[in-house]
Amino acid sequence: MDYQTYDHDVLVIGAGGAGLRAAIEASAAGVSVGLVCKSLLGKAHTVMAEGGIAAALANVDDRDSWKVHFADTMRGGQYVNNWRMAELHAKEAPDRVRELEAWGAMFDRTQDGKILQRNFGGHRYPRLAHVGDRTGLEMIRTLQDHGIHQGIDVHMECTVTRLLKDGDRVVGAFAYERERGRFKLFRAKALVLATGGVGRAYKITSNSWEYTGDGHTLAYDAGAELMDMEFVQFHPTGMIWPPSVRGILVTEGVRGEGGVLKNNQGRRFMFDDIPENYRSQTADNEEEGWRYTQGDKSARRPPELLTRDHVSRSIVREIKEGRGSPHGGVFLDIAWIKARLPNAADHIRKKLPSMYHQFKQLADIDITAEPMEVGPTTHYIMGGVRVDAETQMSTVHGLFAAGECAAGINGANRLGGNSLSDLLVFGKRAGEFAAKYAKCRHDDVSIDAQQVEEAARAAVEPFERGTKGEGPYQVQYALQEMMQDLVGIVRNETEMTRALDCLKTLADRARRAGVGGHREYNPGWHAALDLYNLLTVSEAITRSAIERRESRGGHFREDHPDKDAAFGAFNIITRKGHDGGMEVSRVPIPPMPDELKNVIEEMK
Ligand SMILES: Cc1cc2nc3c(=O)[nH]c(=O)nc-3n(C[C@H](O)[C@H](O)[C@H](O)COP(=O)(O)OP(=O)(O)OC[C@H]3O[C@@H](n4cnc5c(N)ncnc54)[C@H](O)[C@@H]3O)c2cc1C
Repeated sequence: MDYQTYDHDVLVIGAGGAGLRAAIEASAAGVSVGLVCKSLLGKAHTVMAEGGIAAALANVDDRDSWKVHFADTMRGGQYVNNWRMAELHAKEAPDRVRELEAWGAMFDRTQDGKILQRNFGGHRYPRLAHVGDRTGLEMIRTLQDHGIHQGIDVHMECTVTRLLKDGDRVVGAFAYERERGRFKLFRAKALVLATGGVGRAYKITSNSWEYTGDGHTLAYDAGAELMDMEFVQFHPTGMIWPPSVRGILVTEGVRGEGGVLKNNQGRRFMFDDIPENYRSQTADNEEEGWRYTQGDKSARRPPELLTRDHVSRSIVREIKEGRGSPHGGVFLDIAWIKARLPNAADHIRKKLPSMYHQFKQLADIDITAEPMEVGPTTHYIMGGVRVDAETQMSTVHGLFAAGECAAGINGANRLGGNSLSDLLVFGKRAGEFAAKYAKCRHDDVSIDAQQVEEAARAAVEPFERGTKGEGPYQVQYALQEMMQDLVGIVRNETEMTRALDCLKTLADRARRAGVGGHREYNPGWHAALDLYNLLTVSEAITRSAIERRESRGGHFREDHPDKDAAFGAFNIITRKGHDGGMEVSRVPIPPMPDELKNVIEEMK
């Protein structure tokens, strides 16, 4: 079959924040870099990020430091994080944000001209550098502007379907062009995966169409290990009405600016259940919570800004117990601040411009005057490719991963804002070390033709099956529905075992699902190929979730509702076994050095 071949020292797959930052760093190290992305450059999911980038710049509250950020991240992740990644992240994020500013990012400003920082769930002090509620757009724009002058070769609308190996080392990737359907072969000395998350495995999600777990699956098939796949984050506030917009994110910035959650009785239910490990840091009355959002340093944060896992479960409880809103959510009210601020409507429009327009245009709700209806939405996966903390190399030689498709920094639950900083810190590291790795490889890259033929044959299979049977979208919908119902926010062993059976049936259906037409822009064909990735990550999530017989962070088991210290000592790994089946194992978390333990103690 025909294909065009491209050679790069480093190939970066994914052009979101992590991929762009990796490509910039690798290119700056003097190696040739190729950057591949499924959509147009600038359309990666990072562009949707709203609330901000977490970094202990201490511009708004000088009590902040890397130590507090580290302790917050570990507490939020319920101590199964890769502590070294959490440490590097907390220490390096401020420099990465300042660097972004030096490259032209126009952050909101404090009165004295510093980068403004806002409150977010789980962060002790105002920490999120932001640009209104369009931070991701500014981040992507800045990275692109900077990167575009560095001679990076960009391959847009090009989807990688397989990684290619030479022995135990990754040396290339096979891809198709979305527009024309032509095949491309990339040869590279090192590869960086920066493909984002898996949200499209669920029915209700804030994630875009690109989030089909491609990088997770490419790595898994190439022999890499996936870690912590049970930890899926359900963001507490997604839109729920009208049905066509269900799942679209309502930024935590709304609560950071003073928005409150209420049930159908008008009660601020978040005060009803404050977890013990957050009690001392949480306001015990509404007045104190309000003062915190207005920058009073003596006040503690309102319970609406507890971690996302807890807020989501509290919302589910209200709905299940009959105190939900008319369309099956709860109320999020920012309009109430007009009782406190003279120009409240202008203030809301200035601080939350996208939210204002989103609700006005999609739901005909004016958030400056009435409450929003919100409910949990699948948002982020903490699990991903297992990587080395310093270099971001996976367990396969030459294969690096960064951003949402990599695991470690977030443990059982990610704090808002910690993803954008993760992309910058570990994107840079992945690019740096991939370039170093490539420079050390003086041998030619060789890929045997059979591997390429096999990848091409697999890519056209859906056409061979034709349109007689089921189409890929039917299988995709069934999978999303099943994952939402059986492996969602509240899980139990019986349902998850049933999910594994369903996954087998769905895999059979996917193997039979075919498409018609030809390879030129054919979304049905793309969906048929994505199915394999969605099924693989769904199986990894389900098997890992069965294995973790406790509740921790984003993973809640109604049959094991408590945290179990024994499970706090390891991460769960999935890998491809010799027989092609998925193997699950536990790996112990290395002991934390005393100096970091002391930091956590100090910050309690
Ligand atoms: C609505 C919303 C708001 C958010 N707000 C915030 C926030 O305020 N702060 C924060 O920290 N986090 C936020 N997040 C989370 C954060 O935006 C993401 O976790 C982050 O942007 C992921 O970045 P990434 O670089 O890993 O991947 P992405 O930005 O998703 O980029 C993935 C790239 O990989 C490419 N790709 C995927 N598969 C393939 C393939 N097979 N072949 C080739 N290319 C491929 C895609 O085309 C894309 O270019 C938000 C998320 C959402 C959905």
